[in-house]
Amino acid sequence: MELVNLKDSSERVSFAQAVKQGIGKEQGLFFVEKIESFSDSEIDELLSLDLVTRSQKVLRHLIGSDEIPTLENIIADAFNFKAPLVKADDNTYCLELFHGPTLAFKDFGARFMARVLSSIIGSDKCTILTATSGDTGAAVADAFYHQDKINVVVLYPKGMVSPLQESLIATLGDNIKAVEVNAPFDNCQDMVKTAFDDLEFKQSVGLNSANSINVSRLLAQVCYYFEAVSQLSKADREKVVFSVPCGNFGNITAGLIAKALGLKCRFVIACNANDTVPRYLSTGNWEPHKTIATISNAMDISRPNNWPRVEALCKIMGWSLSDFDFGSVSDENTKQNMKALYEKTGYILEPHASVAHKVLSDNLKDGEIGIFLGTAHPAKFKEEVDATLGIDLPLPKPLADRMNLEKQKKLMDADFATLKSYMLDELKLGD
Ligand SMILES: *Cc1c(COP(=O)(O)O)cnc(C)c1O
Repeated sequence: MELVNLKDSSERVSFAQAVKQGIGKEQGLFFVEKIESFSDSEIDELLSLDLVTRSQKVLRHLIGSDEIPTLENIIADAFNFKAPLVKADDNTYCLELFHGPTLAFKDFGARFMARVLSSIIGSDKCTILTATSGDTGAAVADAFYHQDKINVVVLYPKGMVSPLQESLIATLGDNIKAVEVNAPFDNCQDMVKTAFDDLEFKQSVGLNSANSINVSRLLAQVCYYFEAVSQLSKADREKVVFSVPCGNFGNITAGLIAKALGLKCRFVIACNANDTVPRYLSTGNWEPHKTIATISNAMDISRPNNWPRVEALCKIMGWSLSDFDFGSVSDENTKQNMKALYEKTGYILEPHASVAHKVLSDNLKDGEIGIFLGTAHPAKFKEEVDATLGIDLPLPKPLADRMNLEKQKKLMDADFATLKSYMLDELKLGD
């Protein structure tokens, strides 16, 4: 598989190289230049397979036969949990992506990436540095925990992740280092970007980002769009609309890759009050506002770093940005929608899924089958869900146990020099 830097097309790398390197020169994202689609009959055949077998075929097709010889084993090991499609409303299903170890869809990408990376680093030094607005850090920490020779430093914005998310990041210890930053997520993300620009530092610790800029995360996520459609009847498969709750736009990029591969579907972009993309799609002006804290905090991102990939893919495929339906939902409406669906069908939405469900309902046309992505288990947002629905959701036992463990974390300001000396002098990752 050949990937090209979207900011400098002279930089071309293999899949393995892109996974190791994370990001290219000038902070350019690696992306494909073309995608070879499956035929309709190949798609039908794929849809008749189970998740693991189908994912092995889809990812082998994308990555090619000359890289990652253990790909099939990696997939079987990484995708060891289900992604059920559950009816939630009239003509509407939730693709529940929260049955992995940290109860978030990011388990798919993080578990796949950890195993790919450990299969390709050989004797190289490797430090994962990642910024998280919540779920990424938890999924990455869990996926890399105890992975030999790989250290992980997770930056997260103080006070802007849920208590459970913080526990999942900060209670593992061993090779997982939690850093609480006195600033919003975008500043955490900037610290990571600055670290990658410091070439000497980058080399000395073998820096790698496990953020959704890493192409391996995206490819893993392509698989569950096929899994969703495979669970529909043949007739329903022809009229699928996916509604994706968007933050950094990695998830929807993966969906668009699935579409480029030949999966029949259209997409709805669902955002919270951080609505840079919806405003861009309606006015044509890219004007990020200051990031706003919302109850769907994993989507509190005003400069989504995967957006250039969405535009690149549209260009490759000849799709127009005007083909997207989109919407942004306030906290108030997110809660109202949680309540309304619970009263109507009993289905429990957490805030991210509620944003996706709401924008889907607003845009679903007669005869279409709507699928919104359930990106986190409702219990991960227990405080909000309980207060909004007047219920007492039990926390799954493995997570409840984690809440009681002691947190091991480092607090710092949003300053790269501080982070650098912490990693070099305190953790001695450069030695
Ligand atoms: C990360 C996350 C999102 C946003 O996904 P992107 O790929 O960043 O667009 C949505 N919901 C939850 C629960 C998340 O953790």
